[in-house]
Amino acid sequence: MSGFERVQELIATISQTGRGERGVSRLALTDADRQARDIVVEEMKALGMSVTTDACCNLWGRFEGSSDRPGVVIGSHLDSVPEGGRYDGALGVACGLGATRDILAENPPPRRSLSVVVFTAEESSRFSLATIGSKAATGNLSLMDTLRFRDRQGVTLLDALRDFGGRPEQIPRDCLAPASYHSYFELHIEQGPVLDWNGEDVGIVEAIAAPTRFMLEVVGEQAHSGACPMNMRRDAMAAAAEIVLAVERAGRAESEFGTVATVGVCECFPGAMNVVPGRVVLKVDVRGIVEKSIRRACDEIKARVESVCAERGVRVNFTLYSADKPVAMDGLLARRIENVCKDLKVKYRRMPSGAGHDAMYMATLIPSALIFVPCKDGVSHNPAEAVDWRRVRSGYEVLLQTVKDIVR
Ligand SMILES: [Zn+2]
Repeated sequence: MSGFERVQELIATISQTGRGERGVSRLALTDADRQARDIVVEEMKALGMSVTTDACCNLWGRFEGSSDRPGVVIGSHLDSVPEGGRYDGALGVACGLGATRDILAENPPPRRSLSVVVFTAEESSRFSLATIGSKAATGNLSLMDTLRFRDRQGVTLLDALRDFGGRPEQIPRDCLAPASYHSYFELHIEQGPVLDWNGEDVGIVEAIAAPTRFMLEVVGEQAHSGACPMNMRRDAMAAAAEIVLAVERAGRAESEFGTVATVGVCECFPGAMNVVPGRVVLKVDVRGIVEKSIRRACDEIKARVESVCAERGVRVNFTLYSADKPVAMDGLLARRIENVCKDLKVKYRRMPSGAGHDAMYMATLIPSALIFVPCKDGVSHNPAEAVDWRRVRSGYEVLLQTVKDIVR
């Protein structure tokens, strides 16, 4: 059986785990997660890989190369959001296993070691913290973090890891040795519509966007909606509306740099039809891969907020949640992938990733590449997530050929 046929079979089997009435609910470190991992372990063993689990429950399959040159890792995750799709994460793991199968089927055996990794808890759904496994593997997760983050039932990440067979107290010491690895590859569905709508089969990710997130609390004056004349109001909602549009404008003005700006939360207080709103909470997410562009968008929003305050007599309290830096993928690996796309006559584009991925943390230690394949209409984190296998095949072939060229 070819590696790619096996990828499709693995996806069919893995998507039975955590399957509910609506989509796949395979939250991290649950029984469903365990069942999916068991399928992967069986496959790793069948391929002759040695199987280990690190302190943070990341699952590693490794095939030793015939030389001691630094190895190649292919990975992604198996956990999903509640009522998610079949492909987010699982496709990357399955493609890693498929590529290993195809590479081992040929002679001579690879000179570099070839590993497939399943990272723990890439989704933030269970512990309100994303990319937990790759953070741990790259020295970006502290023991305090495992105590601080809990699921809805109050189970700490530390206890969940321990119950799953992990060794959380060893996480700070169980970090990857960068010198042992040549590169990390991750194939993932795009989770956006760009490739699908442009008829391209591969996205070569140049950088992963980092969100700057903040809360704007607009404080006006609560008043009677009948008795307070229009010219005497300090309506927090009307002021917030101007700010929402200013956020959109700031994003649009920077769109040529790939920056996006969103108000995803708007809460109005007291929220009654006969009351002029006194207070509105807006939560803003600005993302991009060009730091200067993100900064310009934020500065533009800030300037507009100040003028709205002056014009409308409201006050705005600002709370910064996060201001992460965008992470660049490795330029040389991107060029290798691009050359393979040209050789194989695969339609591709270089693009940013708006969503976070494990590659973001792997890139802090090891040259990393993220390959996107299209998903139908960009729908993801949704039971309707779907792929066209002919197009995924192109992405798979590009991954396979690129890795093959390195490990041989
Ligand atoms: Zn994912």
